[in-house]
Amino acid sequence: MTTTQKTGRETGATFEVRNPGTQDVVGTYPIHGEADAAEAVERARIAGEWWEGIGAAERRKRLDAYRGIIARRIHQLAGVIHDEMGKPYGDAFLEVALVLDHLAWAAKQAPKVLGTRRTRTGALNTHLGATVEYRPLGVVGVIGPWNYPVFTPMGSIVYALAAGNAVIFKPSEYTPGVGAWLVEAFSRVVPEQPVLQLLTGDGSTGAALCRAGVDKLAFTGSTATAKRVMATCAETLTPVVAECGGKDALLVDADADLEAAADAAVWGGIANAGQSCIGVERIYVHQDVYDDFTRLLTDHVAALRAGVDEDAPVGPITMPSQVAVITRHIDDAVTRGGRVLVGGGTVDGHVVQPTLLVDVPEESTAVTEETFGPTLVLRKVADMDEAIALTNGSRYALGASIFSKRRGRELAARVRSGMVAVNSVFSFAMVPSVPFGGVGDSGFGRIHGEDGLREFCYAHAVVRQRFRPPLALTSFARTPRTEEQLGKIIALVHGRK
Ligand code: NDP
Repeated sequence: MTTTQKTGRETGATFEVRNPGTQDVVGTYPIHGEADAAEAVERARIAGEWWEGIGAAERRKRLDAYRGIIARRIHQLAGVIHDEMGKPYGDAFLEVALVLDHLAWAAKQAPKVLGTRRTRTGALNTHLGATVEYRPLGVVGVIGPWNYPVFTPMGSIVYALAAGNAVIFKPSEYTPGVGAWLVEAFSRVVPEQPVLQLLTGDGSTGAALCRAGVDKLAFTGSTATAKRVMATCAETLTPVVAECGGKDALLVDADADLEAAADAAVWGGIANAGQSCIGVERIYVHQDVYDDFTRLLTDHVAALRAGVDEDAPVGPITMPSQVAVITRHIDDAVTRGGRVLVGGGTVDGHVVQPTLLVDVPEESTAVTEETFGPTLVLRKVADMDEAIALTNGSRYALGASIFSKRRGRELAARVRSGMVAVNSVFSFAMVPSVPFGGVGDSGFGRIHGEDGLREFCYAHAVVRQRFRPPLALTSFARTPRTEEQLGKIIALVHGRK
């Protein structure tokens, strides 16, 4: 820390959080800067060593206790989510509930997945014994978005903690209160050391965290910001996990359960006002069932209403600037010949009504870019080969959903994406044992599952000589006869392939 750097406490700089529906101020938080981030890392180094030192069994106890607190105070946390980012209270409740299984799974599985295991050493190395274990990196920085302000960052936080790391969490400037809640609750079960810390502020605070010397940075947010985060992290060779945007497709085969597919499409696309990284934004439907499916989907979308009142099943758009993006995509679709079956970008302040579009050319931004709003683009396809080709035509590749009675698994195998749900939506996010993450512009690295635990570790290999080797290969004492014998073994083991 240089003398010119000031902490958020010293500068006194703050920012306000407003409820996107009512515009009421729901909190004021400090804007932390570089000095705060540096201090947090210093504290986290000590806390991390302590946390690693208490061992996996004690960590599991603490993480189980954390789970208990969250479960008992779930209504309170759901209230903070609702106040800060505007999603309906029931959706906020569901979001928190889904984290609990991840907490249980990661805490229980960490020792098994990361603990020391023996590996085979091979025919030439019978004199050697080998083990591999996965050790915590030390201090992990987590930068999270606002759309699922508990579920999404906890996908990194929980797995990093279970792996034995200290964590510094910088939530979105739209949801700092959620971050504060999570950190405060954790300090109740781990009062000894600041194993989980909070930094609040805007993008500059996130950039400060990237530069602060963390051992890994887990970023969840847009693809554009991920590029900035990577550039900043490159200055210190800090590795990055990038969980970015998506343009997920839902495919409906000729034999699909159409009612189930329509219900899933409307939930996957419109829930959370469409502000889901794995939200359904494109729908490709087999021509044989297109008309029937369109009727069903139209009814489902038309039955929904966005608003800021307590009964509204769809909430407002959290980020004011996103309203313009959604409107631009709808306008582009219509300008290029698309038709509006429901909605059409009816905007009232931050509220965008659910919208269903058809006949939209694939070049439209409504199809090529992440809309992140309550819109669905529906298209008829000749067969499922065309549906797969269009699905894989996107630069994003996060998740996908397939509705088919007979060909679900086969079609899923042909989709280029991190996750595929068959006859369901979002299901892969709910199963703690499967990895979550994307390819292409949707990012890289994985949270959740065994991969998610290993993501926050480094592999540590130990190879031990158990007895004198039959052939002394790595020695200047090696003789021409040894080399001759090696030649024979190689011919025997590898030469017959
Ligand atoms: P942003 O990319 O705008 O912001 C994400 C986080 O990065 C925020 O905490 C933000 O802080 C911070 N940030 C902004 N600028 C910088 C910077 N220069 N350096 C470091 N940190 C910075 O995303 P949103 O919050 O708007 O979230 C929506 C996006 O997240 C969508 O694209 C969505 O698809 C994606 N997402 C991906 C998920 C996944 O798992 N793949 C899951 C959920 C969302 P601040 O808010 O204070 O500016």
